[in-house]
Amino acid sequence: MTTKRKQPEKALKLYRDDKAYMQMLLDGLSLDESEEAEINKGVLKAVLDKYDEILDCAENDKPFITSWFAYAAELFTAMGVPWFMFPQTAFLGIEAPHVTDDVDGSERLLGSDFCTVLRLSLYYVEADMSPKPSACIALLHPCDGTTIVHQAIKHGKWHDVPMFGADPPYWEDERSYDYYANEFRRMRDFVTEHTGYTLDIDRLREVCEESNKEYALWQEYNDLRRAVPCPHDWTIGPPQAFAMATFYYPGKPGGIEWFKKLIANAEKRVKAGISGVAGGERIRMLWFDILPLMWQFDIQPWLESEWGVNIVMNMFGYTPYEPIDTKNEDTMFRDMAKRSLTQFPMIRQARGVADHFLSDIERIVKDYKIDCVVWPAHMGHKDGSANTGMMREKCREIGVPYLHLGIDLFDKRYTSVDEVKDMFSKFFSSTGLG
Ligand code: SF4
Repeated sequence: MTTKRKQPEKALKLYRDDKAYMQMLLDGLSLDESEEAEINKGVLKAVLDKYDEILDCAENDKPFITSWFAYAAELFTAMGVPWFMFPQTAFLGIEAPHVTDDVDGSERLLGSDFCTVLRLSLYYVEADMSPKPSACIALLHPCDGTTIVHQAIKHGKWHDVPMFGADPPYWEDERSYDYYANEFRRMRDFVTEHTGYTLDIDRLREVCEESNKEYALWQEYNDLRRAVPCPHDWTIGPPQAFAMATFYYPGKPGGIEWFKKLIANAEKRVKAGISGVAGGERIRMLWFDILPLMWQFDIQPWLESEWGVNIVMNMFGYTPYEPIDTKNEDTMFRDMAKRSLTQFPMIRQARGVADHFLSDIERIVKDYKIDCVVWPAHMGHKDGSANTGMMREKCREIGVPYLHLGIDLFDKRYTSVDEVKDMFSKFFSSTGLG
């Protein structure tokens, strides 16, 4: 059964304005025919397609849902149900020019202690700035904040939006994967009940096979980033690959084509020894969290020009993924559930056992020849910051300098740009890296 919804006009206007802004960025690239520009155009087109899809649904009262990157979206692709990522605007960073005003709005609503990703997402709903979906897939981990935000909207503006949250088990064993796979079956039934979209298992197999190819290409690209110098800087590659594989083109044909272009360009650059950092790469950094997209004109260019830093890898670009076994329905549900529980970033590290923080750091440092590890200590991540002592110890053990910053990844006013630059400068000088 589908529910007829009245869409907040403010939300539709915001969506149209954001789409126009993205279109302007794409038009700005139209004269640039370089391979790197083509890679960026591919991402912008994917973002525009998503805006079109949701606007069409919202304006014409067609069913659509909202969900998170941390649910294997192959299921939604196979069902054909349109969806948008609940915290999508926060993840677009500076590409959403109004986001700083929205952070202020969210602060008036909720204060400033609550994770800004979640605060922003809640604010968009309560301020009528988000399209109203037919149903909402809530995320019940990795932190308390995700559960709270969904409870809040269920008691607020979206009280009449049906909501489902898959119950995440704590352990990582066969019993847990089977349990979570069953939760995914309940999620499928919930989506069908509230949108009318159904799942055909042969179609799911096709989508999972397509998605497996995308994830394999993503790994192939990451292998190229191990080269010294790394062929791209932070602007091309990891954040885009994550967005394309997990929410813009999960199991959709456009994804494979985009990954092939990315790899072809990286291969050429590796062969020619071209560094992603214009002035030459001197420090290879692991940024162990979401990249600070809101800071992208302040910190990253300065790190490159002043210190020759290349952020070779970050938490969201890392690929600890296993392919989905497409043998039958059980294997597909099990592997989608396993990926969602233990492999997607942020969930993987912050949900349960602390070992992932440590083993991921060790693996990435070794594989990508990392010179230093930065834990930005995003203000919302009480979970991760509780592990900072263990991460520091691990870095000592493997002989790589570790920096704990203390910032808001989505609001550069939390810790000023000058303070962050000062912390970096002292860190590089005192560790002999710069
Ligand atoms: S895990 Fe961290 S970044 Fe993710 S929602 Fe929770 S506090 Fe925010």
